[in-house]
Amino acid sequence: MTEYETVIGLETHIQLNTTTKIFCSCKADSWGDPPNSNICPVCTGLPGVLPVLNRVVVEKGALLAAAMQAQIQPVSYFDRKNYFYPDLPKGYQISQYDMSLARGGYLDVPMPGYIRRVRIHKLHIEEDAGKTKNEYGQRLIDFNRCGVPLVEMVTEPDLRSAEEVVQYLIRLRQLLRWIGVSEADMEKAHLRCDANVSIRPRGAEYLNPKTEIKNVNSITAVRDAIQMETERQIREVEAGRRVEAWTLDWDEEAGVLRKMRSKETEADYRYFREPDLLPILLDEPWLEQILAALPELPLARRSRFIEQYGLPDYDADILTGERSLSDYFEAAASAYGGDPKRVSNWLMNDVLRMINERGIPAGELLLTPEYLAEVIKLVDSGAVNTNTGKSLLEKIQSSGHSPAEIVQAEGLAQVSDSEAIRNAVSEVLAEAPEQVAAYKSGKTNLIGWFTGQVMKKMGGKADPRLVRAALDELLA
Ligand code: ADP
Ligand code: ZN
Ligand code: MG
Repeated sequence: MTEYETVIGLETHIQLNTTTKIFCSCKADSWGDPPNSNICPVCTGLPGVLPVLNRVVVEKGALLAAAMQAQIQPVSYFDRKNYFYPDLPKGYQISQYDMSLARGGYLDVPMPGYIRRVRIHKLHIEEDAGKTKNEYGQRLIDFNRCGVPLVEMVTEPDLRSAEEVVQYLIRLRQLLRWIGVSEADMEKAHLRCDANVSIRPRGAEYLNPKTEIKNVNSITAVRDAIQMETERQIREVEAGRRVEAWTLDWDEEAGVLRKMRSKETEADYRYFREPDLLPILLDEPWLEQILAALPELPLARRSRFIEQYGLPDYDADILTGERSLSDYFEAAASAYGGDPKRVSNWLMNDVLRMINERGIPAGELLLTPEYLAEVIKLVDSGAVNTNTGKSLLEKIQSSGHSPAEIVQAEGLAQVSDSEAIRNAVSEVLAEAPEQVAAYKSGKTNLIGWFTGQVMKKMGGKADPRLVRAALDELLA
C-alpha cells in the first residue's frame, strides 16, 4: 500500500480589533448587540454614499504583515470582488487583489522535534460581509458585520497534517493577541479558516487536485474535518477514482463534510479597481511609526527566556504564551534578583491559577510582580513558611496590601522559636499515645500526621524544619 501525506494550505480571515469599521464610523465589534443596530448608509451600501478608509486598519494590517516577516508594499490598491449574496448589500466586496498590502512572509510553528515554516503567499485587507441565519422559519439577515475590517492571509501549501494546522492556528492566535491587532477568539469568528486539502504519495514533489473545506470555526472542527477529508481522499484514490476540486462545507452539528458546489474561479468575481478609494500610500515615516509598535515576538522571546534565564523549554513556552504573562515574569524575576526558575515555579503553580480563575491578564493583578518577588524573598529568608507564603498571594490579590503589611497585621511571621516548637511537639505527643505507639511499632508515615497536628496548634506558622527536627528527637 502506498503511504500518503496530506498537503494543506490555509486561507485565514482575521477580524481586526479596531474601534470602528473599515469604511464608516459604525462600531466594529457588535458581539451580542441586537441585529442591525450598528449599521449606516455606507456599510449597507445605499446609493450615493462613499467609503472613507480607516487608517488604523492599514496600521494594524501592516503591523501583522511585519510580524509575519512579509514585504509591506509602499503602494497598494483596493479592488471590487463582485458576487451576489443576500448579506452583501452592495453586490460586491471591497477587497485587494493583485496589488495587496503585503506579500510573502512566514510563520514558524514549533512541532515536537521540528519547526514547520509556513510561508505566506499573500496578505490583504478587506471588509467583512453580514450574516444570514435561519430563525422563526425565516431566512434573516443581520448587517452588523458588514464593513468590519478583516485581514485575509493565504498560506502556501506547506502544512502536512491536521496537527500542524492546529498548531499553526494556535501560534497565529498567540501572535495576533501578542501584537494587539485582534482578539482572535475563534468562538466569536475573529479567526476563521478555510482549509485546502490534497494528498500525495509521501515524498512526492507534485501537487494533486485539492478540495476546499469552508466553515471550520474551531480548533477541534479543523482537526476533525482535515482528518476526515484526508481519509476520504485516500479511499477515493485507492478505489481508482479521482479527487475532484470540490468546495466542502463542514456541518458542525453532524460532524460531516458536505459538497457545497464545484469551485468558482477567480474570473467569476470580475475583479476591478475600486473607483471610490485612493491607493494606499504607505510612506517611510508612516511605516516607521507603525513598526515602532512591533514588540519582540513570542518565539524570539521564548528563546531568550531559555538563554537569559536558564529556563526549561516547558517553562519558557508557558511564560511566553501571552505577552502580559511574559512581562510579568520578567518584572518579577528582576525584582527578585535570585534564581529565575524559582520565580517561574511560583508563577506557573500559583499565580497562573489565579489568572485563569479570574480571567484577567497578568498585568491587571493586584498581586504585582514586585509583591510576588517580595513573597518569595520572605519565604527564602524564613520570615514566613512556604504555606503561609502561598496563602499570602490570595490575600494580596484580594486586598491590594503589600506582603509585609499583611504579615504584620495578621501576625503571620514564621515561628522559629525552638523552645515553643518543642513544647507544642511534646503536647501533641502526650495527647496521642495510640499514634505514638503505632509510630514506634513501625508506622513511620505517621510523621506527616504529627507535623499537621503541631502546625495546627501553632496556627500554621511554625518553621517546618524545626518541627520535623523536634519530632524526630522527641519520638526517638
Ligand atoms: P485556488 O485555485 O483555489 O484559488 P490557490 O492557488 O489560489 O487556489 O490557493 C488557494 C489555497 O489553496 C492556498 O492556501 C494554497 O496554499 C492552497 N493550495 C493550492 N494548491 C493546493 C494543493 N494541491 N493541496 C493543498 N492546498 C493547496
Ligand atoms: Zn456603517
Ligand atoms: Mg486563489
